[in-house]
Amino acid sequence: MSYTQRVIDELRERYADQPEFLQAAIEVLETIEPAVEAHPEFEEASLLDRLVEPERVIMFRVPWVDDAGKVQVNRGYRVEFSSAIGPYKGGLRFNPTVTVGMLKFLGFEQIFKNALTTLPMGGGKGGSDFDPKGKSNREIMAFCQSFMTELFRHIGPNTDVPAGDLGVGGREIGYLFGQYKRLRNEWSGVLTGKGLTFGGSLARTEATGYGLVYFVDEYLKSQGDSFEGKSVVVHGSGNVAIYAIQKVAQLGGKTIACSDTKGWVEDPEGIDYKVLEDIYNAKRSGHDQGVSLAMYVDQRPGATWHEGEGRGVWQLPCDVALPCARENTLTLEDAQALAANGCKVVGEGANMPTTPDATIYLMEHGVAFMPGKAANAGGVLVSGLEMSQNAEHLSWTFDEVDGKLEELMRGMFHNVDDTAREYGHEGNFVMGANIAGFMKVADAMMAQGV
Ligand code: GLU
Repeated sequence: MSYTQRVIDELRERYADQPEFLQAAIEVLETIEPAVEAHPEFEEASLLDRLVEPERVIMFRVPWVDDAGKVQVNRGYRVEFSSAIGPYKGGLRFNPTVTVGMLKFLGFEQIFKNALTTLPMGGGKGGSDFDPKGKSNREIMAFCQSFMTELFRHIGPNTDVPAGDLGVGGREIGYLFGQYKRLRNEWSGVLTGKGLTFGGSLARTEATGYGLVYFVDEYLKSQGDSFEGKSVVVHGSGNVAIYAIQKVAQLGGKTIACSDTKGWVEDPEGIDYKVLEDIYNAKRSGHDQGVSLAMYVDQRPGATWHEGEGRGVWQLPCDVALPCARENTLTLEDAQALAANGCKVVGEGANMPTTPDATIYLMEHGVAFMPGKAANAGGVLVSGLEMSQNAEHLSWTFDEVDGKLEELMRGMFHNVDDTAREYGHEGNFVMGANIAGFMKVADAMMAQGV
């Protein structure tokens, strides 16, 4: 049995209760096997055994007072997975589904994603099972302050730099940052995704969506093609989806549908990202009861609303599909519909939105598959640029940041493409991304000793 297979077997036994982490770790390990087996020194150094264990997992109590005066308690976490190539870096997720296993999956993915950006950032992830939905502004602030009252002692601009993820946007980062500064009496770039008036980077909000489209566009270019005239379907209507839709339109494509948790909207004229932006802001204003994507059709009479599962978007004929919501939302059945309806490219804007069987189906049926680890790295990439700007006490212009994002995302596509080719798996971008990210981290770990 190969070294890689032995580590996979051990993981299956040890972490049967962490299905998302197992899914992500096994996917990475299976695809990097040729690179691992070509380097016997990795086994001698127990490199994989070390790689799959977080350097540190912090768990804490988050007590806060709700608007009725009642004390609530949530669980807070920070998984500091790998600091091999830089300070731990990755978002905070506030969602009732958050568990240690979920954050280990996201933190593990983040290691390779961050390596692919070419910037010096390690991998981490954190969050809480707190549900921000339906909470008032004051409740959100109280929760964020309590969360940071424990987290502040574990993070720092050269140690661990959190950012946003599901349920954590600019408002939450502002409250978290305020509390860090209060407790430490120190202004530093300890969080990214900050407001523009206090150290945030222009184009950070747009970064994940734009980056996704640059990455897919570079693939299309490599095929002598472009977004011009392409029809696109998007799953999701949050921060990633909105700016992917804007960039698709700028490059001459048309997004015909997108979704939220209550249903999906179809707009044959092309989804207007501005309308989505207004709905998104209304949802996040703290008075979100009743606000849903269904309101899109009030602004755009040609559009239709379909109540039910957002996954309905996968049934539409399209050239490009962009899952931008959350993990495991594009299933085998959806992949079959996409391939049958002529979809040519799937680009993951979310983290692991495609199930493993759907991924295999797409790749075996002529659909180019761009894994999130590379394709959605634009967000954390601009977080890295925000860290650089904070360190040099400067603010770059929107065009400077966007230009760097575009250059690095297009370069990343070629790194992933070339690596897949080098290992004899041309067109397998999952392998290309995993091996390219892994080799950088492995090299750093080997150099730094046990
Ligand atoms: N949560 C985002 C991601 O999944 C961004 C993380 C960051 O900017 O640190 O990559």
